[in-house]
Parts: sequence; C-alpha cells; structure tokens
Amino acid sequence: MTESNNNPTIDGFHLVIEALKLNDIHTIFGLPGIPITDLTRMAQAEGMRVISFRHEQHAGNAAAAAGFLTQKPGICLTVSAPGFLNGLTALANATVNCFPMILISGSSEREIVDLQQGDYEEMDQLAIAKPLCKAAYRVLHAQDIGVGIARAIRSAVSGRPGGVYLDFPAKLFAQTMDALAGQQSLIKVVDPAPRQIPAAEAVQRALDLLKTAKRPLILLGKGAAYAQADADIRALVEKTGIPYLPMSMAKGLLPDTHSQSASAARSYVLAEADVVMLIGARLNWLLSHGKGKTWGAPNPKKFIQIDISPTEIDSNVAIAAPVIGDIGSCVSALLKGVGTNWAPPPSEWTAAIAERREKNLSKMGATLALTPTPMNFHSALAVIRDVVKSRPDAIVVNEGANTLDFARSIVDMYEPRKRLDVGTWGIMGIGMGFAVAAAVTTGKPVIAIEGDSAFGFSGMEMETICRYNLPICVIVFNNNGVYRGTDVNPTGGSDVAPTVFVKNARYDKIIEAFGGTGVHATTSQELSVALKEAVASGKPTLINAVIDETAGTESGRITMLNPQANKKK
Ligand code: ADP
Repeated sequence: MTESNNNPTIDGFHLVIEALKLNDIHTIFGLPGIPITDLTRMAQAEGMRVISFRHEQHAGNAAAAAGFLTQKPGICLTVSAPGFLNGLTALANATVNCFPMILISGSSEREIVDLQQGDYEEMDQLAIAKPLCKAAYRVLHAQDIGVGIARAIRSAVSGRPGGVYLDFPAKLFAQTMDALAGQQSLIKVVDPAPRQIPAAEAVQRALDLLKTAKRPLILLGKGAAYAQADADIRALVEKTGIPYLPMSMAKGLLPDTHSQSASAARSYVLAEADVVMLIGARLNWLLSHGKGKTWGAPNPKKFIQIDISPTEIDSNVAIAAPVIGDIGSCVSALLKGVGTNWAPPPSEWTAAIAERREKNLSKMGATLALTPTPMNFHSALAVIRDVVKSRPDAIVVNEGANTLDFARSIVDMYEPRKRLDVGTWGIMGIGMGFAVAAAVTTGKPVIAIEGDSAFGFSGMEMETICRYNLPICVIVFNNNGVYRGTDVNPTGGSDVAPTVFVKNARYDKIIEAFGGTGVHATTSQELSVALKEAVASGKPTLINAVIDETAGTESGRITMLNPQANKKK
C-alpha cells in the first residue's frame, strides 16, 4: 500500500497477492522475469511461498500436482510469450487430467498486440490459451483483479476440475486505486466447488443393476482419489465385498495388499466382469475404451459410472446407470442404499479371482526375489517396493516407459494420493515438477522413480530441489537409452541410434553440482542402503541406478500404439 494525496492506494501487484491470500492460496510456483519479477518478490515479502523453477513447464506441472493433492487450484506464474508457452503444456495436461490449476502470465500491452506492432514478447496469449484449458480470462483494470481471480478459482475447481488461464497485461500491475475500494473489490469465493447431489433415482438404478451382477467389479480412477472421500469409498468396497481395480493414481485409496484388490488378476476381471462400476475413471484409451478383447468381447457388459461430468457418459460405450454428482455425495448415497444386509458377490467369482491373484503374485514374487548384477527393472523396483512399504506416507512420482509400467504393478501403495504419474496423456516431463509440489504441499518424503529418458525432460530442476532443500530422492533407472540402450545405427555411421544415450552416464554427478547427495548404485544392496538413507535424512538425493541395458521393451506396455507394430499385425 502506498500514500498519494494523503489517500492510501493499492497497486495491481498487491491486489493480486491479497486476492490469492484471501482465498487461502499461499504458494506460487513460477519463474520470475518481465513483467512479473516484482510480483514474485512482493508475494514473498507478503508471506507467500514462492517456489522458483528453472523452466516454466515444471512450475506448471508443480501447480497441477498441488491442485490434485489439495483440491485448491495450484498457481503457476510466468512471463509473457515464451514463458507463457512453456507453461501451456502443463496447463493443457492439467485440464486433460482434471487437475485444478491457474496459469497466470504477464503479457504485453493490448493496444500493441492487437495492432500487431511488435511489442516485447508480443503474443495474443488469451486466444492461444483458450482451446487448451477449461476457461481463460484477461483482466485490464485493477478494480477487476478480484473478480478475475474469483472466476479463475471457480472455473478451476467446480464441476470437473481443470486448468484456467489468467492474462495480466504488464500495465495492470502498476495501476493503483484507492486502497479501501481495492480491498472491497476482492472476492472471497464462497463454496468454490459446490457439492452436486446425485438424483435418488440414479442411485437406485445403479444399486438395482449392481444387485443383479454375478461378476461385479469396481474400478477406481484418479477422480476418486482427487475427491478425498477416502473413508466412504473404502466402506463401499468393503461393505459390498466387490473386487476392485485401481487405476494407477487411485492406487492406495485402499492398500494394494487389500484382499479385495484384483490388480494381480487385472486381465481376468476386465474380461470376465458382467457389471462394472466406474468411480472417477474414464473409459478412455487407458481402459481400451470399454470394448474389445480386453473387455471380453463379445461378453455383454453393463456399466455404472459415477462422475461429476454428465457429458462423460456414453462417450465410448453405453452406460446403463450413470450417477452424476460429486464422488463424495454419490458414494455416500450408494453406501446408504447398500445398507447392512447386502449380499456379497457369488463366491465362484471371488474365488476365481483369488486363485489367479495368488498364482500371479507368487510368480512375480519369484522374479522379485532375484538380485542380478547389473540390476533389471524388477530387482531395482523390489528394493523400492520394500522401502515404500516401510514408509507408506512417502509420495511416489513415476514416469518413463518400462520404468513406469513395471513400477505401477510392483510398487504397492498403502495410502490415498501417494502416487503421481504420467496420467491421461502418458506425458513425459512431469517428474521434478510433481516431486517439488508433493514435497512442498505435504512435507512428506518423495521418491521419484524416473526412466533415464523421462528424467532428461526436467533434470535441471535438481537445482530447484537442492535450493529449497526438499526431501526428494530421485532414482534414475539408467539403462543407457530410451526403452533400452542397445540400438545401433544401421548405416554404421558415427551417430549413435536415436534411442541411445551416452553410455554409463553418471546422473548422480548432476546433483553434486548443487550440493545434494549423489549415489552411484550398481547392486540392489547399494540401492537399498542409499534409498533408506535418503528417505531417513530428508536430504535431496539422486541415485543413479544402473540397469541392464538390454532390459526393457520398445514403448513398454503400449507397443501396440507404434505405427510400425500395427503395420506388422
Ligand atoms: P483415470 O485416469 O484414473 O482412469 P480419469 O482422469 O480418466 O481417471 O477420470 C477422472 C474422472 O473423475 C473424470 O471423468 C472427472 O470428471 C471425474 N471427477 C473428478 N473429480 C470428481 C469429483 N470430485 N466428483 C466426481 N467426479 C470427479
């Protein structure tokens, strides 16, 4: 606040800060530069936590993950044009994943942009952001900052959550107005994500269908994890006795070791179930669009779908019983309807699942007991699995191809919202941004399991991790390349194959440049000691885990998406 003509005034910078704080938002992820450098300084001076990154994409990813973990929109702050564009991938990814975030970018002056007169970092950012997010707004006047931020918050968290873009032209920050009028222009958003109660008949329809099932299955998605209705979701699964399958970011809603978990019999239950209840999960590519061989075609299948978005229904296959509402309200209504004398699913169904699960688990157990040198994906992940078991509060971040696929099935999760990964797009590059957000918002240890290729997208953020002294241990699964390190250049030329990296690279040296702990682990034993130490110390650590370069398959488990593989079919 400043004084002019004896009337206290407030500028645009402080209105933005006050509006965020008023709405209980106290952290900004961003990257300073023109025209928002002073905003980052002032925000810190006003008691906000400002986490500065080395590249906006990672600041944006951090904001998105913070949104997922807290149900409040994560804030990413960037400079104009190039910084804005760098943040845009994260904004689009947040929207696709239904994570609430707000990308706030400074921009150049409207008058010059609209006449295309060539301003510093000129770009019509609002127009570019619009198709990539849930909502986009521009604020031109200081007195509208409160409204702009209120609208952005509501858009991000209400209904299906998503990304919102907020455009603040440079001149806005320096505008001043009467301080009292400024304060009065700010809005504390009341009930930003209103409950949406499902219709009683929709709940009844779902229960009636579920009762007819001979082979029922519950499928939990990351919407269920986001909803923070953990106790009711667990109660619904346990009271009905229905086997369940968690999508990767829903792992831990119930512990993966739960007796009703059908994860180790996934193909069997997807193919054989007759009634499937989706809770916060979409029938997109990750679920083979609800049809085909995966789903046991031509076996008839009936779906119940609980979702906040009415237009999600029937997007891939017919949904017999849609239940539209927020997951908390829907699940609690279903629970009431289930009552106390619900008949458990037929024992032939649960016994058949248990048999397959035990067979698969014991097969996997034998593989995981091996400790080859060099390590392979299984032996390295067995070590991580044991550490996570002893620290179920730790958050696992996971990206890569094989590193992702194997970790998802090998590393059990025990608590909700402890697994963050590549999500709906299967995007690479979320690693360090998600890890920073997890550490900053929860204060818990973070274990980032990274393919060596995936790590490359955000590796420079090791400096950020060290700068803020965050309790993050990054494990780079180093098999010398994308998928594996054995490809050769068929021409015999001096360039290596496109999928191959520098052999025997020492990723652990990267963190040492910034004062963190680097460990070169060539055996399971070394990996185990280093990871336990890292988690116990809470110090930034990078473990270069040497993996057999012949291990790993092309594209991990999604080989079928390669055009060449399809051509061969
Ligand atoms: P997964 O990838 O784990 O299968 P998706 O991202 O495909 O999960 O699906 C999440 C679904 O959850 C989306 O359709 C979204 O609309 C829905 N969703 C998100 N939050 C809520 C909520 N609070 N209540 C109800 N549905 C929600």
